[in-house]
Amino acid sequence: MSEEKSLNFIEEIITQDLASGKYASILTRFPPEPNGYLHIGHAKSICLNFGLAKQFGGKTNLRFDDTNPAKEDIEYVDSIKEDVKWLGFEWAKECYASDYFDQLYTFAVQLIEKGLAYVDDSSAAEIAEQKGTPTAPGTGNAFRNRSIAENLALFADMKAGKYADGEKVLRAKIDLASPNMHMRDPLLYRIKRAHHHRTGDEWCIYPMYDFAHGQSDSIENITHSVCTLEFIPHRALYDWCIEQLGIYPSHQYEFARLNMTYTVMSKRKLLQLVEEGHVESWDDPRMPTISGMRRRGYTADSIRDFCDRIGIAKRENIIDLSLLEFCVREHLNKIAQRRMVVTNPIKLVITNYDVGEEILHSENNPEDPNGGTRNVPFSNELWIEREDFMEEPTKKYFRLGPGLSVRLKSAYIISCESFEKDAEGNITTVYANYHPNSKSGQDTSGIPVKGTLHWVSAKHAVPVVLNEYDRLFSVEDLASAEGDFKDFMNPNSLKKVEAYAEPALANDALVARFQFLRKGYFYQDTNSTKDKLVFNRTVTLKDTWAKEQKK
Ligand code: ATP
Ligand code: MG
Repeated sequence: MSEEKSLNFIEEIITQDLASGKYASILTRFPPEPNGYLHIGHAKSICLNFGLAKQFGGKTNLRFDDTNPAKEDIEYVDSIKEDVKWLGFEWAKECYASDYFDQLYTFAVQLIEKGLAYVDDSSAAEIAEQKGTPTAPGTGNAFRNRSIAENLALFADMKAGKYADGEKVLRAKIDLASPNMHMRDPLLYRIKRAHHHRTGDEWCIYPMYDFAHGQSDSIENITHSVCTLEFIPHRALYDWCIEQLGIYPSHQYEFARLNMTYTVMSKRKLLQLVEEGHVESWDDPRMPTISGMRRRGYTADSIRDFCDRIGIAKRENIIDLSLLEFCVREHLNKIAQRRMVVTNPIKLVITNYDVGEEILHSENNPEDPNGGTRNVPFSNELWIEREDFMEEPTKKYFRLGPGLSVRLKSAYIISCESFEKDAEGNITTVYANYHPNSKSGQDTSGIPVKGTLHWVSAKHAVPVVLNEYDRLFSVEDLASAEGDFKDFMNPNSLKKVEAYAEPALANDALVARFQFLRKGYFYQDTNSTKDKLVFNRTVTLKDTWAKEQKK
């Protein structure tokens, strides 16, 4: 690292573990459940898990935590793989908890054999009631005293499909008086007839999260199993299972999940937005999904930068969405190709331009000395923005109005002479003279101008549609807002705007990032075609976060 950065608490633990020789190298994992598309919170976890391995010369497994067949799907598996790769990470092994179903079943049998698990016929409600409360111990029931032989036979029958869904469960026999509710004989297996996207109909019993996760870590020899704070109370059970089974001692460490302003961060809620049609799809550019952000034009670099800047916390907090926008702006400013697009046009006629037309050259990126230039056709009829003309200019108006002069970007200085209006009083055409000796880069006119306007040549312009996105929600802290989260959706989160663009855009590569001058950063939408060019606004040019930091 070029710059000395203090280690976060997980980095400190790993540094010690390596120094003490506890591990020769580390192995982390990213364990998504394939029940939805990944969101920016997952990006944080990905950057952390893969980042730690990279930093310390270790490896990372991608493990699908696919123990809940009803909600899981291969579509999600594929999207998760694509997203992790796109973020720039490579996994050592692609693993599935479902690949361990046989092994996990054997582990459960071992617990039964040690008298540490039993089959319970109680209903979910009865089990909940018998668990007691945080202040009162659980009571338990007669099933708890079943013999090992009986439990072995019943568990085998559960697996063989002799019982209906929910009729029986396998529970660990730990401590009904534990102050940690998770240790009060937690469920290990349930009966559920559901088609699994990998194991098909082979199984009708499925392990619970707590019985699958830690054991999967252990099977893979994960050294540092990093998860979010809500799993702290699960840690005792994680350790208990590993200890009782005498298997590889993986360890769990917890950090605060990412929360962000104006954003819902839960696959369940994001699925609702998709299913109920509040957004177009999982990759709708307004979604906080990695695929949505990719389609909107976010770069993987900027997302990694964001995850790096927010760091690792041990306490829940809420990160300002504008920090993410700041990161993407920083990156796009360096790489985006500059283009000119006019959204609300009025015609500008240059009366003394009798050349017909010419090709001018405009730099692609002033931030990049090797960025080169592009051809921009110029003629005597241009489109300019309606808001760049004022009939009776105010004192500090540096754009166009009768008697005022401005520079046309990468072209000439022009001076406005007159204008025309339609019957409703709207400006239709502005007339100006150009100064032939004021060409950009070779200006000898000596005319002082303060404003520079973007423009496109009317006869060369190509029509495009701009998707101007705004926040999907209109309240900052959705977790604290009372009521249904969907009541807080911003009705103006998408504005479709027709515009005229310079012709280069029709031939530019699909992967290119753009800055439309004075408008924002844009990226070609996946539904854009040669006949109908569509660009998504990734982020506006204005930079509120950086300003706030300077205060
Ligand atoms: P969701 O509630 O959105 O469904 P999840 O935690 O159930 O999220 P998983 O697929 O189980 O989703 O998560 C995979 C990994 O990503 C887990 O280790 C989880 O802790 C982590 N993760 C999920 N959400 C966040 C978040 N907001 N910030 C950081 N890490 C997260
Ligand atoms: Mg989950």
